[in-house]
Amino acid sequence: MSVVLALISSAVAMTLIVGLRYLAASGAFAAATRWRHPGLYAGLDRQIRREIGWSLASAAIYGVPAGIIAWGWQQRGWTQISSNLADWPLWYWPLSVLAYLVAHDTWFYWTHRLMHRPRWFRIAHAVHHASRPPTAWAAMAFHPVEALTGAVVIPALVFLIPIHWSALATVLAIMTVMGVTNHMGWEIFPRIVWGGRMGKWLITASHHQRHHVEYRGNYGLYFRFWDRLCGTDRGLGSFASPPRGAGAGGSATAAGAAERHGADQLA
Ligand SMILES: [Zn+2]
Ligand SMILES: [Zn+2]
Repeated sequence: MSVVLALISSAVAMTLIVGLRYLAASGAFAAATRWRHPGLYAGLDRQIRREIGWSLASAAIYGVPAGIIAWGWQQRGWTQISSNLADWPLWYWPLSVLAYLVAHDTWFYWTHRLMHRPRWFRIAHAVHHASRPPTAWAAMAFHPVEALTGAVVIPALVFLIPIHWSALATVLAIMTVMGVTNHMGWEIFPRIVWGGRMGKWLITASHHQRHHVEYRGNYGLYFRFWDRLCGTDRGLGSFASPPRGAGAGGSATAAGAAERHGADQLA
């Protein structure tokens, strides 16, 4: 097979993988939402169709560079991805996962802040914020320009920071789960994760929800480090009202969709 054909098939295969991964992850968490908080996405069918459309377009933008890199890794020995666990001491495995998350978070924080400047917001980021309130399907609902800023991160990092493929798979799994759950409209993690000492540094739905309500502040992806350092941390949002159709839960249950539509209109 010619190199061009091999590159094209790798890019197509990776696009399919990213697209199916999105549908599986968002579909699973949307089903969990229907089960835990029935009615939370009521009246949002049109928005959800739009979120799925943008997300599938993003899948291609993520899939093409990833497919090219995957081909180069397999066929040409590109990248610092290793298949041999014995290449480094065992402690390097969790460290490499953390290094990727911190690097991705740093890139995301600063590009995200830039995209909140009026001109860039209109061009690249308004699509993501058109989800009011976002749902589990909004995980990859980005304008192509924004998708491109996200798509280059992991393909660049695999050239810079050595990593075992299983650690990279873990990074991608964390990226997928956090991308979906941060937009889901309710807090899936136990209070100890977001409400305690750990929550001062980690970002979950309670934090990102406030970004979608207030627009300014809470720009981070995984960690609150940059937000806290730069004075842009607005604290946790609250899903204060018990969800429709469910009993009175903790303070981190989902607000009714109507209430949050109201809050968004004030923003
Ligand atoms: Zn978001
Ligand atoms: Zn934003």
